[in-house]
Amino acid sequence: MSSDAGADVDILIVGAGVTGIYQLYLAREAGYSVQLVEQGSGVGGTWYWNRYPGSRYDSESYTYGYFFSEELFKEWEWSEHFAGQPENERYFNRVVDKFDLRRLIRFNTTVTSAVWDETSGTWRVTAQDGYTARARYLVAATGVLSVPFYPNVPGRESFRGEAYHTGLWPDAEVDFTGKRVAVIGTGSSGVQVIPIVAPVASSVTVYQRTPNWVTPLHNRPITPQEQAELKADFEKIRDTVGKSPSGFLHQHSDKSTFEDSPEERQAFYERVWQLGGFGKIISNYRDMTLNPAANAEWSRFVAGKIRAVVKDPATAEKLIPKDHGYAGKRPPYGTGYFEAYNRPNVSLVDLNETPITAVTETGIETAAGLQEFDIIVWATGFDFGTGALRRLGVVGRDGLPLKDYWADGPLTYLGIMTHGFPNFFFPGGPHGAAGNNPRYNGDQSDFVAELLDFAREHGHRVIEAPKALEVEWTAMVNDAAITMSPFNEQSYFFGANIPGKAKAFLLNSLGRPKLLQMMEIAVKSDYAGFFPGPDGAPGPDGAEAQGISK
Ligand code: NAP
Repeated sequence: MSSDAGADVDILIVGAGVTGIYQLYLAREAGYSVQLVEQGSGVGGTWYWNRYPGSRYDSESYTYGYFFSEELFKEWEWSEHFAGQPENERYFNRVVDKFDLRRLIRFNTTVTSAVWDETSGTWRVTAQDGYTARARYLVAATGVLSVPFYPNVPGRESFRGEAYHTGLWPDAEVDFTGKRVAVIGTGSSGVQVIPIVAPVASSVTVYQRTPNWVTPLHNRPITPQEQAELKADFEKIRDTVGKSPSGFLHQHSDKSTFEDSPEERQAFYERVWQLGGFGKIISNYRDMTLNPAANAEWSRFVAGKIRAVVKDPATAEKLIPKDHGYAGKRPPYGTGYFEAYNRPNVSLVDLNETPITAVTETGIETAAGLQEFDIIVWATGFDFGTGALRRLGVVGRDGLPLKDYWADGPLTYLGIMTHGFPNFFFPGGPHGAAGNNPRYNGDQSDFVAELLDFAREHGHRVIEAPKALEVEWTAMVNDAAITMSPFNEQSYFFGANIPGKAKAFLLNSLGRPKLLQMMEIAVKSDYAGFFPGPDGAPGPDGAEAQGISK
């Protein structure tokens, strides 16, 4: 089907990451005219931009990739249980080529504004290079971890050596051999980069503000027998991750911490310790994240593991978090991370004792003096959740900018739509996921695709989330942030890492079952309230029509 009068394309998608590629596939399959615009020169999103050494999945590779094609699942052989960035990027390239999607993608296109035109019922989208398009529907698949954050350190730009942010890593190889390297930040990115750089650099100095609960990823190659089992189990795996609250294969435990004796608990923790990646949360005691005493037990166990690895006791103590329990912030999964601190060429600077005062032309200055470097790695994170959407220049009904509407935090319906911004969707955005992101985001893309099909079938040209449903979902998300979320308010999940950013919860701790349940209610009600009248008047009250209390 070609686009209707007044629009260049039916659907314009922004972002060629895991979510945008899937939405593009769905749109093309459903016969819409569709274009995807991407800021980078290649596909992969996170796996295009984060090409720093050590970058890899911490979801099991085969649960991160797509399930819409059995053929794709069976033909693509991941080399490791947690595949590295080059392989992940190759996978997304393979997907767009296999399904002939590349010709629908316009690369090197940085969207600077997207303005809703009430008269034509279209979005007018403009990019930095002068590109413009009119689209009936706009899908911002711009990701939650896509705007790198640099702290405002005096003199940052004056450094004359090489400086890189993990989230904006260059394509050309960075040679660390024999170099004096500073790594600022000890989140998942810093934790992955440090052990890879340490063996080749002449020195690595880690600037740590807050330690994290790093546990082993337990990555390993996928054996030929496991490859065969993965292929044979396609349907089982698809159904398990499709139904799992977290989107992972890990089994949930139905036991609570203090049901076991101290000896049984120790044995249980040792078993959990051996699980890959997020198994240490999902398959842990079911009260581990929410019962403070249970959380303290597991955290003590992990602290013991850190002390057993790090030879210098003072360094070990600095590496053990004191301000939050396990999963109070998003825990990194590492390979050889704590071991790296046993190397004579790796040192730790505790920024609580000696804060950074400036970056100079030659290095980093703290209260303890200047240390000179050849390379500075900024592993300082992202403007999470709303960062990309607030920078996209989205202007909705009555000239209202999205960044103003969300000044105090995002207001969303299912983390997919926001009232006053018709025909605008952001699967994979804030309030959506809290688990294996591609699975949540895939649910959201499916929801968008089905909603568009329904609108097409029934002749609706304008789709808008009812205000009442947005209020309902946002309140549920915010309540659950207090009652159901393990995350500490200092976490970037509350926007706490960005100076001046409104403190608001940016995830969805209600979990996937609730998300799916709410989607089903909307579908069963024939999307009551989603289709405003021809004069732009709001549709019926969606919450009432869907039987949801306000
Ligand atoms: P992050 O978790 O936000 O960590 C940023 C680090 O920079 C923190 O240690 C932070 O310290 C530090 N920092 C920030 N501002 C600072 C300042 N002014 N001075 C000194 N230190 C400062 O960012 P990330 O490591 O890039 O990871 C972000 C997320 O991306 C992860 O949580 C994960 O979801 C995803 N990720 C996943 C993988 C994977 O394994 N698949 C790998 C990398 C990233 P504070 O803690 O004190 O703020």
